[in-house]
Amino acid sequence: MFRPGIHNMVTLTAVVAPMGRQLLRQFSKHATGQRWIPVRRCNLSACSSKYVLSHVHPMWQGPLAVPGGDKQSPIDIVVRKSVFDPQLKPLTFQYDPRTCQQIWNNGYSFLVEYDDTSDKSTLSGGPLQDPYRLCQFHFHWGESNAWGSEHTVDRRLFPAELHLVHWNAERYSLFEEAVMEENGLAVIGVFLKVGKRHEGLQKLVDALPAVRHKESVVEFTKFDPACLLPTNTQDYWTYAGSLTTPPLTESVSWIIMKQHIEVSHDQLAVFRSLLFTSAEEEVQKSMVNNFRVQQAMKGRTVRSSFTPFLQEMPQDGQAPPTEGPHSDHAH
Ligand SMILES: [Zn+2]
Repeated sequence: MFRPGIHNMVTLTAVVAPMGRQLLRQFSKHATGQRWIPVRRCNLSACSSKYVLSHVHPMWQGPLAVPGGDKQSPIDIVVRKSVFDPQLKPLTFQYDPRTCQQIWNNGYSFLVEYDDTSDKSTLSGGPLQDPYRLCQFHFHWGESNAWGSEHTVDRRLFPAELHLVHWNAERYSLFEEAVMEENGLAVIGVFLKVGKRHEGLQKLVDALPAVRHKESVVEFTKFDPACLLPTNTQDYWTYAGSLTTPPLTESVSWIIMKQHIEVSHDQLAVFRSLLFTSAEEEVQKSMVNNFRVQQAMKGRTVRSSFTPFLQEMPQDGQAPPTEGPHSDHAH
């Protein structure tokens, strides 16, 4: 069936796509028979420990040459350089907690995986032309609270960053296909700050000791990922980028929330108690600092759904708003 606009989407990056395909094939091969549960089509192969070929650091070893594309992630968001785009639509999150299935320690992070065989949990609106299906979410974090996020805002680091990964099932029939293509993925990024305990997150934190070691999987159901979103989801930055783990393909529409969420130090400590290593390995390694270094902008523009102008120049001597809906009445 003809889909309007698809001719714009099928251009592959000549170098990156074949490399990624090779990695994905490798992934499929390695995946066979290794996990004790059926390998779901939605495992973020990009975050998969199946690429691990060294005990030094998961994800970043082996045959992977970094594809030197022009749209790599993560980046530093320079607020004054971001461009307000009034065309950006509000985001619509339609998540069904019943699609939540399991948590998997993949040796680099832990993935909370969702059933993505139908459109029950989707993200739409914002910069996206199509609805995107939720596949999994995961976090990146540091060994201390001073760093850990992948993206930064005006060089400001956050202790952790949440990524909700969605793929375009409207245009692609398989997640593995979407990973390789332009507009294949949409990832929501949410910064975590240390403060008060996050009640919604706690159910997940309580389940984490069961997936302490690499390759462990535990059933995890009825978790609504919407509880991890900030109260204001209408203020965001968006830009075209890549996965931050192999195969690093430039298939991602990044949507980074302006507002962060708060979690407690103790909750982050449980993240840090996870291990990069499997139970059999002699030297156990704490799962910390599982983020990628920042990448060059290379001429890209970050668009914002809100006007940074109003934040930087508050009127009536009031402090700039940091939370809640605001400033959408400019001009
Ligand atoms: Zn990520």
